[in-house]
Amino acid sequence: MLQDQTSSDQLCPCQSGKPFNFCCGPAINGSRPAKTAEALMRSRYSAFFVGTVDYLIESTAPETRREEDRELLIEQSQITNWTQLTILEAQVGQSGDTEGQVSFEAHFESPDGNGILRETSRFRRDGERWYYVDGDLELILT
Ligand SMILES: [Zn+2]
Repeated sequence: MLQDQTSSDQLCPCQSGKPFNFCCGPAINGSRPAKTAEALMRSRYSAFFVGTVDYLIESTAPETRREEDRELLIEQSQITNWTQLTILEAQVGQSGDTEGQVSFEAHFESPDGNGILRETSRFRRDGERWYYVDGDLELILT
């Protein structure tokens, strides 16, 4: 369930400038899968923001999904305050592609310190759905 901090008519946490209901909301609540790799990446950022851990797990490719990550994700989403998302580059990953790659920077604040997560994520499409496969990430503490 979504937490109170993001109601349906509020702007999407992914900073697209669109309302949550017309952006990442439908992907997160399961009514309409993300159409592109970038849309899936944005929806995962938003899910992290609102703490929808089930969606983070479901949108991970089955071969890299680890059920034991759930506890860690819950804890991280509770203590991390995401403050800014910047998409640096999106390669392929359109609705007709089967693979995609998205580079982004996500700024965060947490009790352990503030920083920037810089990641190049790889995605794969199976049928109608995009999945997060894995990524190369760099953590920069600010
Ligand atoms: Zn969004």
